[in-house]
Amino acid sequence: MNVCKKCGFSIPEGVLFCKKCGTPVQSIETDEMDAGLTIEELTKYSLDMRELSDHMIATYVKAVKKMELELDKVKIEAESTISKLERKIREYRLKRMQISSLVRKLF
Ligand SMILES: [Zn+2]
Repeated sequence: MNVCKKCGFSIPEGVLFCKKCGTPVQSIETDEMDAGLTIEELTKYSLDMRELSDHMIATYVKAVKKMELELDKVKIEAESTISKLERKIREYRLKRMQISSLVRKLF
């Protein structure tokens, strides 16, 4: 049995409006959700959730920035390795040309 929040009149289960004053009866779901929590507690809870989600977003943004920096570092290292290899290949081709022209002169 519920009690009207406005006038205190007893309201049988399943009735949606107070028979005395016409105030709508809160749904049972809402009653269960809010069970034992005051407005201050609910406000604090929602602020805590807000703070937590802000914190999670900040952490995520920081992690993405760190990953981007590391990717840049890897990219720079890879580019330097590639240019070193390209230089080695050029040196090798030059040496091979020198050797083959030397062989041609000899024979
Ligand atoms: Zn009432």
